[in-house]
Amino acid sequence: MAWRSHGDTNTELVNNLKDNGLIKDERVREAMLKVDRAHYAPRSPYEDAPQPIGHKATISAPHMHANACESLLPFLYPGARVLDIGSGSGYLTAVFANLVGPSGAVIGIDHIQPLVDMAETNMRKSEEGRKMLNLGHVRFVKADGRNGFKDEAPYDAIHVGAAASEHQKELEEQLKAPGRLFVPVASEDGYGQHVYVVDKKEDGTVERKKLYGVQYVPLTDAPPE
Ligand code: SAH
Repeated sequence: MAWRSHGDTNTELVNNLKDNGLIKDERVREAMLKVDRAHYAPRSPYEDAPQPIGHKATISAPHMHANACESLLPFLYPGARVLDIGSGSGYLTAVFANLVGPSGAVIGIDHIQPLVDMAETNMRKSEEGRKMLNLGHVRFVKADGRNGFKDEAPYDAIHVGAAASEHQKELEEQLKAPGRLFVPVASEDGYGQHVYVVDKKEDGTVERKKLYGVQYVPLTDAPPE
């Protein structure tokens, strides 16, 4: 099912994801309809598949983007503050921005400057994207995501688009209470990765829930410039 949602247009792709049960919530469908994947994926943008974007990075498959949105959705309310770590193409950052609206704020960070620049260029391809960048609702910043981004913390939602080698306390500390972190983490035995949803409760306690196995680009040291 996950790979059968290809479309000839962005609208077709998004509606197929919905029909195949990969998008469940109408808010996610609407936000994904507003962001044309062709502005972010270099070729075959309406295939439900990951694509290389250079610098050893990939834009994730649309069903993975949908799933990240669905998982974080209760914390992506209008006005929420969001951190997107490993923002790569900038696609998901833009979808988050549509979910939290003009009263919210989304920061995309990546440790490779050309990808930070690419994400901004991609988002500037639409009038809506230009507006959000110009008004400061969305910012792309070069930083090491393993440290989160303290300057703008705390966040309602943190998304990590690359696999961490272990649970990063620093990211949990930068969540609001309540707040939610979506993070792929490598297994301790070195084989495979799993997505975790980490909830910080109102009383500050943290609960980690292991979801499903995935294959993400690892969260690494920045390559030498
Ligand atoms: N959500 C993005 C995923 C890009 S792939 C998209 O769908 O387009 C993962 C990204 O994580 C890459 O762009 C890579 O440069 C970035 N990355 C890897 N390690 C990082 C680190 N330590 N800090 C910040 N970004 C990192």
